[in-house]
Amino acid sequence: MAAIILRCATTNAGKLREFHIAAERLGYPQIDIQPLDGLKQIEPCEEDGVTFEENAVKKAVYYSGFTEDAIFADDSGLEVDALNGEPGVYSARYSPEGTDPENNRLVLERMQGVENRTARFVCVIALARQGQLLGTFRGAVEGEIAEAEKGPNGFGYDPLFFYPPFGCTFGEVDRERKMGVSHRGEALRQMLDYFFRVFFLNRHME
Ligand code: IMP
Repeated sequence: MAAIILRCATTNAGKLREFHIAAERLGYPQIDIQPLDGLKQIEPCEEDGVTFEENAVKKAVYYSGFTEDAIFADDSGLEVDALNGEPGVYSARYSPEGTDPENNRLVLERMQGVENRTARFVCVIALARQGQLLGTFRGAVEGEIAEAEKGPNGFGYDPLFFYPPFGCTFGEVDRERKMGVSHRGEALRQMLDYFFRVFFLNRHME
């Protein structure tokens, strides 16, 4: 059986790597996740939504105009309960500098002396084809904001995100282990289950 291409609207190499790892782990070798050709040359889609869903849908529908294949886009971020859900949809640009070290520094500063440290990573994936939204899929993982950054792995807020079942931060585990429990792994699993049923099985039963 020939593999079926599923496009991904991200230029973030770390995210793309995590999507490949998850697809392999989930046992979908028939689904070939490929970045959208020429994505870097396309005018970027403005992420001005106030929810992860809004941004993911906007991106997936927009970029689906540039390919015949089905395409997915994700929006993700960190929600800290004591900060009223911040940084949320603004996770990538929380600090004025918008870099990982500065974003992490700002979260730590705002969490200084705060007792309730519960937080979660959220990921919403939207799937679209030729201008039409096919579905949205949400994953979340619960954890706590550590007192300091720990671990060299991952990206973004990973070194700050203490995950109790592992007894360490996401910055201290490898990508495979993180993807087994992560918000992105869970959203991708739901989307691939749907995509496999609707596209792959239908095509091969015709
Ligand atoms: P997006 O590219 O608009 O989805 O922005 C996601 C931002 O949220 C990233 O730049 C990170 O700061 C943060 N983020 C999302 N997922 C993760 C993760 O798995 N680990 C660490 N930070 C994450």
